[in-house]
Amino acid sequence: MPSIFTKIIKGDVPSYRIAEDNKHYAFLDINPSAEGHTLCIPKKEIDYIFDLEPSELSALNLFAQKVAKGMDEALQPIRTGIIVEGMEVPHAHIHLIPIYKETQRFSLGMQVEVSQNRMTELAKLISEKVIL
Ligand code: 5GP
Repeated sequence: MPSIFTKIIKGDVPSYRIAEDNKHYAFLDINPSAEGHTLCIPKKEIDYIFDLEPSELSALNLFAQKVAKGMDEALQPIRTGIIVEGMEVPHAHIHLIPIYKETQRFSLGMQVEVSQNRMTELAKLISEKVIL
């Protein structure tokens, strides 16, 4: 059975798309820890990120770097933080979370309310700034 993220890549489940190349996909997390919280995933479905081949892990990180730079440009946070956890969805992914204030709690357990309109707007703002 394909993971929810594979269904998203295939377009069988909708997502707020940020960027895509032939091996990776980036989209907004539907339960964001901050506005613009983005997930970067390999199109190859693999559960544990450290089971990726070294070249695949490098490529995923380089893809995430380009997405994070786009987020920095679009959203102007202090910086964008990165978390890899993977206990909920068994499809390797990197969380990119903008940090807007030094006092902001930086944790996946933390959630903020973001309307669908704002999610659409955020996806557009970020995607326009990502250069792959
Ligand atoms: P982790 O596996 O690292 O704990 O986190 C999985 C993340 O995937 C969570 O932050 C969760 O909100 C996100 N997520 C789970 N299902 C979906 C979905 O269908 N769409 C999107 N955009 N994000 C999802």
